Amino acid sequence: MNDEQLLRYSRHILLPQLGIEGQEKLRAAHALIVGAGGLGSPAALYLASGGIGTLTLCDHDAVDLTNLQRQIVHRVDSIGTPKAESARRTLATINPEVKVNTVIERVAGARLESLVSGADVVLDCSDNFATRHALNRACVAHRKPLVSGASVRFDGQIAVFDLRDPRAPCYHCLFPESGENEDMRCAVMGVFAPLVGVIGAMQAAEALKLVAGIGETLSGRLLLFDALTMEWRTVRLARDPACTMCGQRNQA
Ligand SMILES: [Zn+2]
Repeated sequence: MNDEQLLRYSRHILLPQLGIEGQEKLRAAHALIVGAGGLGSPAALYLASGGIGTLTLCDHDAVDLTNLQRQIVHRVDSIGTPKAESARRTLATINPEVKVNTVIERVAGARLESLVSGADVVLDCSDNFATRHALNRACVAHRKPLVSGASVRFDGQIAVFDLRDPRAPCYHCLFPESGENEDMRCAVMGVFAPLVGVIGAMQAAEALKLVAGIGETLSGRLLLFDALTMEWRTVRLARDPACTMCGQRNQA
């Protein structure tokens, strides 16, 4: 690290759990963020400011005036611009050292598989079950840690599925693809602005811990947050041996 990098990351380097070695691990790491909206904004801002080396941002959508209430990586002059590109511009003004790749499409299939296989950690900042299950499927197949967040109204949740560990549950163990889970879009239900900041920042924290290999992650735990009462609940997650997504992986 050069002098400027030592200064930029000095408050991380002061942390004994991270230090220069941990900061180098962040710099060597590649995070994939799917969704550059409410959750993806704080997640991308903290990963970039914190010194992740490479960030791939996926979002097919463009910035709209209704996004600016909570999607803090976007600016008024980005309205109409693809969200991934708008986020890339903001991140460059904070930390130009981070390499930011943008994918302006609704990713699925082989494209998603290839993006997941190239990442060290995957952040699900999407807003629909189809994308959540597709991401989980790719993370199970490529054994990548998945940091999953969701927020609607005043309710948030976050969990880590560390699929490098064969004993860890996957997203599908928790939410089987039954078709009963209906998408609860912010566009219809509304969402409290700082809620996505709380959950997205925690996703960044878990992603940085996973790549630096420090602390205890949320693997096997689901945290549920009620912003109206400021109460957190922890639900312990166990792997479902009959899970059609990760069950076969473990028999192989
Ligand atoms: Zn599973």
